[in-house]
Amino acid sequence: MKLVYTHENRLFVANAHNLLEQAGIHAIWKNEFASSAIGEVAPISAWPELWVLEDTDYEPATEIIRTAFATNNLPEWVCTQCKEINEPAFELCWNCQLEKPESAL
Ligand SMILES: [Zn+2]
Repeated sequence: MKLVYTHENRLFVANAHNLLEQAGIHAIWKNEFASSAIGEVAPISAWPELWVLEDTDYEPATEIIRTAFATNNLPEWVCTQCKEINEPAFELCWNCQLEKPESAL
């Protein structure tokens, strides 16, 4: 297993996870709920982490994530169904998988 992504905001990790799943790369969470157990400010060791099971998935996984997060100059968009805020790079809502609405493109 290899660590491909970690961030203090679990929404970022959730988005990255969705991207990998869409690409057919199986990834798992570690520390998903750690921060709520120890308080507001989590030490980095308790950040949610995304791991790939297959070492051969590491390179494509990091490439997908780097590409996605490189477009951060675009505005975030709000899901019309569940009202969650999504990162601009994501084509599907991280929460309910609804497609990005045309108005947000
Ligand atoms: Zn949604």
